[in-house]
Amino acid sequence: MAKDDYYELLGVGKTATEEELKKAYRKKAVQFHPDKNPGNKEAEEMFKKVSHAYEVLSDGEKRAAYDRYGAAAFEGGGAGPRGPGGFGGGFHDPADIFREVFGQRGGGGGGIFDEIFGGGGGGRDSGRDGSDLRYDLEITLEETARGAEREISFRKNMACERCDGAGAEPGSKRVTCSTCRGAGQIRRSGGIITFTQTCPTCAGAGTKVDKPCTACRGEGRVLKTTKLNVRIPPGVDNGSRLRSSGNGEAGLSGGQAGDLYIVLSVKEHELFERQGDDLFCEIPIKFTLATLGGTIEVPTLFGKASLKVPVGTQSGTTFRLRDKGMPSLRGGRQGDQLVRVHVEVPQSLSPEQRKILEDFARVSGDANEPTSKTFFEKAKKFF
Ligand SMILES: [Zn+2]
Ligand SMILES: [Zn+2]
Repeated sequence: MAKDDYYELLGVGKTATEEELKKAYRKKAVQFHPDKNPGNKEAEEMFKKVSHAYEVLSDGEKRAAYDRYGAAAFEGGGAGPRGPGGFGGGFHDPADIFREVFGQRGGGGGGIFDEIFGGGGGGRDSGRDGSDLRYDLEITLEETARGAEREISFRKNMACERCDGAGAEPGSKRVTCSTCRGAGQIRRSGGIITFTQTCPTCAGAGTKVDKPCTACRGEGRVLKTTKLNVRIPPGVDNGSRLRSSGNGEAGLSGGQAGDLYIVLSVKEHELFERQGDDLFCEIPIKFTLATLGGTIEVPTLFGKASLKVPVGTQSGTTFRLRDKGMPSLRGGRQGDQLVRVHVEVPQSLSPEQRKILEDFARVSGDANEPTSKTFFEKAKKFF
């Protein structure tokens, strides 16, 4: 193809106008059309050549490149054709012709000029590996502390069962890809630059199926709901990501499946607040207990624990329960549980309680407790 003179092929001079080109092409296309020449390989070849020549010469930019560099600028894959509509109206029944010639290559992909000169031509319409998926999973604080197993259910593209992911209707066969003639790659060149790229029709396989699978329309995968058991290790936190390798979307034409990422969010807990690997909680105690001291039972994520409250404990004091916090995800030391006590003052008293407390107050006189003593000393200068 490279050696042919495009002008000669169409039978026009180098100064032919657009209109003359179109007219000449129409004549040749009708003459060599495969429908008119069934089984005639030579005619088919000629039909391709004149179509290609017209494709180049009818485009001002490409024609200029051809005039400068010759056919070398276009050998190989051929410039991305415009859709059938791009050739202007008035041409009788052009769609069939162009579909024949350009196969599936058309559509989105920019021509070679787009690709070479930075137009960012589209090209790749069949990604091979399946994409990664994200699943947001809400878990409880208990589950993060002890670990858990959860069943999740979600929709994703899975390998089609009818065709086993191959995209071929059972009984159909694979045929050589006509775009790349089995090479899996196509060569493109513009001017002095030549490069190869993966064939967009067969995604590099070199073959394609002659009858696409009816269940997946040849894609090899279908959208389905699936279930998966997820093991949540102890110690995970809000925002932790678990990766489930290969459980993302199925790949295309033998491509690898993507991964599934499970992103965890931890439900707010009624009692505990997480601070790093420590757990924090606030517990109300009676003012008598705070005064006299004693032992109380405290809830933890791992059952009850007892906490010794010393004599004269002030409201707001924080105690530490060792190793009752979060397990460390990386195998380090387990966190602690921090308990802040809040001393409650009774809001109503029975007559008997009242009498006892009044006695207590009388016996105590104005003896100051250590905290208030410091306070009143500081405050003296304002009185
Ligand atoms: Zn299928
Ligand atoms: Zn191909």
